[in-house]
Amino acid sequence: MRETVIEGQNPAADDEDRRLRPQRLREMVGQRDAIARLEIAINAARKREEPLGHMLFDGPPGLGKTTFATAIPREMGVSVRIASGSTLMAPHDLMPYLTSAERHSILFIDEIHRMSKAAEEFLYPAMEDFRIDIVLGEGVSARTISMPLQPFTLIGATTRAGVISAPLRDRFQLREHLEFYSEDDLAEIVTRNAAKLSVEITRHAANEIAQRSRGTPRVANNHLRWVRDFATSETPDGRVSREVALAALEMAKVDGRGLDEQDRKYLRTIANVFGGGPAGVDAVAHTMNLSPDTLEDDVEPFLLRIGFIVRTPRGRKMTAEAYAHLGLVVPAGAEAEGGQKKLF
Ligand code: ADP
Repeated sequence: MRETVIEGQNPAADDEDRRLRPQRLREMVGQRDAIARLEIAINAARKREEPLGHMLFDGPPGLGKTTFATAIPREMGVSVRIASGSTLMAPHDLMPYLTSAERHSILFIDEIHRMSKAAEEFLYPAMEDFRIDIVLGEGVSARTISMPLQPFTLIGATTRAGVISAPLRDRFQLREHLEFYSEDDLAEIVTRNAAKLSVEITRHAANEIAQRSRGTPRVANNHLRWVRDFATSETPDGRVSREVALAALEMAKVDGRGLDEQDRKYLRTIANVFGGGPAGVDAVAHTMNLSPDTLEDDVEPFLLRIGFIVRTPRGRKMTAEAYAHLGLVVPAGAEAEGGQKKLF
């Protein structure tokens, strides 16, 4: 199993990541509706002794797509193999995963939107009829042979549901869109994980961390680990009070809404370089020396969600609220365009 693909490079941090990641659906916080639907699908598949239907999870990074994809096989009692869409360029990249799939096992493809068109088309008969079509020879003498596969379940995860082609999307029986978490759910995650890490933390401190976690469990976990380091280093007993949590987050330059340096730089770029917008994402990314993907995946979803930017047909525009947050004066005209935000 290639857990390393998703857990990063640092073995100690990886270990801790694994410890904090819920292993079973019932250990997951929030996402009640999605979990209820999954439990029904899992139960039904087990009763009928069939593989689970193919599933697609979409939503911004850090909201639990991988957690779902790794908890589901545990619920089913089946094995899982993990691939990343960016490494699946040709049918032969997929072959080993498909041909070695055991009966009812799960193949998890993370970032499935990065898979090439050729790989995607190769996957269709595998998903639909549990077979793959292999072309032998070339030109006029080429012939296709069909090879049966064990019935398996594909779980796909993507940060870009919008770019998944309709034929691929329609082959998933269950599609779950993950939304940002409430502050209550994040506070619960922080509290539970503090216990797992043996950190003493007050309710107030957990709430402050939750409030600054951009609706994202992964961010909440990262903040908690930083706050823990801060408390270990800077306090006699390592306990995390509200004051300690706030001092740690301030030092990490996380502000009251949970925005970090990169978020603020993005907003300042739109404000100062593009006059508040509308600005195309490529232009903003280029100015910031970042890839447009980073902006679209990691930065923009939360800013859109809290109404700091709006999308218009001509690009991103900053709202009056974002100006106020940065302590900048709203330029004349921004209000008028901001008024259009309900249209989009
Ligand atoms: P994604 O695959 O969507 O980027 P992950 O599944 O890797 O996100 O989640 C990131 C981390 O956040 C996980 O390691 C886990 O610790 C935590 N997490 C995600 N969803 C939940 C949840 N529902 N309850 C508790 N922790 C969660």
